[in-house]
Amino acid sequence: MGLENKLPEGVITTQLEALVNWSRQNSTWPLLFGLACCAIEMIAAGTSRHDIARYGSELFRASPRQADLMIVSGRVSNKMAPVIKRLHDQMSEPKWVIAMGICASAGGPFNNYAIIQGVDKIIPVDVYVPGCPPRPESLLYALEKLREKQGKETFRLYREMDMKAAPAPVEIESLEVLRAGKPA
Ligand code: SF4
Repeated sequence: MGLENKLPEGVITTQLEALVNWSRQNSTWPLLFGLACCAIEMIAAGTSRHDIARYGSELFRASPRQADLMIVSGRVSNKMAPVIKRLHDQMSEPKWVIAMGICASAGGPFNNYAIIQGVDKIIPVDVYVPGCPPRPESLLYALEKLREKQGKETFRLYREMDMKAAPAPVEIESLEVLRAGKPA
């Protein structure tokens, strides 16, 4: 008993929050960039054989302002870290990050001074994908896990994130500045 019983056939009801989450789950647009060998597997995920379009994520965007998913596919060097941070800052909220492969997740075999030991040292990560390199199916599974997470997000969570948000993206000129957490 309820409103549904009084509505004509073909009309459905839902909660606004569920509708917004559903639309985000089915139109998560990744940022178009890759860092190393894992990027080739990410590119393969976009082919018809793997069909990333089933999640509405085939639109790899060339501008961070049009993307809400960053797939970090490859090792993160000291030189690239400030660039990745800046791109992440430029993406609109809400935004998500997938660390693809063991290099992006934890440095992988490159335990040396030139490579950041996990991209979560500079930006928050939502899903980690193990493997070297992970196959496109692993990336699609990561998208599944991300969709689960997106389905649980609430307006209250976004409001809290807004309140905690950094004042404004700072100009990052070097890794030292990034590590110190303040502009030059
Ligand atoms: S995880 Fe393996 S395949 Fe991926 S960037 Fe590192 S070395 Fe290359």
